[in-house]
Amino acid sequence: MQANASAGEAGDGLGVYRRGDAVIIRKGGRLPPFCIKCGEPEWGSPVQRSLYISAMPNWFGALALLLIPLGLIPIIVIFAIWRAAREEAQLSIPLCAKHRDIYQMERVVGWTWSLGGPLVLIVLIALRDPPGLILAALALICLGNSLLQIRLVRAVAIEPGFTAVKGAGGSFLARLPEEV
Ligand SMILES: [Zn+2]
Repeated sequence: MQANASAGEAGDGLGVYRRGDAVIIRKGGRLPPFCIKCGEPEWGSPVQRSLYISAMPNWFGALALLLIPLGLIPIIVIFAIWRAAREEAQLSIPLCAKHRDIYQMERVVGWTWSLGGPLVLIVLIALRDPPGLILAALALICLGNSLLQIRLVRAVAIEPGFTAVKGAGGSFLARLPEEV
């Protein structure tokens, strides 16, 4: 297995493997210093990201927004259930200069979206606009949130022994040894 031998230079000893198009990071593992998107050498220090997997669908969190007219308690309950049902993992993600720039820009867009979206929704509810419009705004917020989650990488498994993520580029994956 010649391909594995050369890929081993990057992945061996780091506790990081490839399983299909997923990257497996064993507990204590560290991604090799190459851009996770294009496989070019890393530029600057890695980006710290919190990854989540929730047993609840994305719209469950957005449900809280619909309950705003009912007051604070239902929102807190929904939010607590949503929080309790999710797993969290921290990951240091290496990026090249180009993909770091793209990431920074997406972050600005993402924050604008996450703060602006609910604000628009609250205004629509306050104005008692047609329910269709409110639902459309809610759908857009959910869509935006799910897009934010696939930014950089998306966790597909968070287990005590390892984290699995998707969204890494082919050149990065090719540097990793196949999981045994
Ligand atoms: Zn890159």
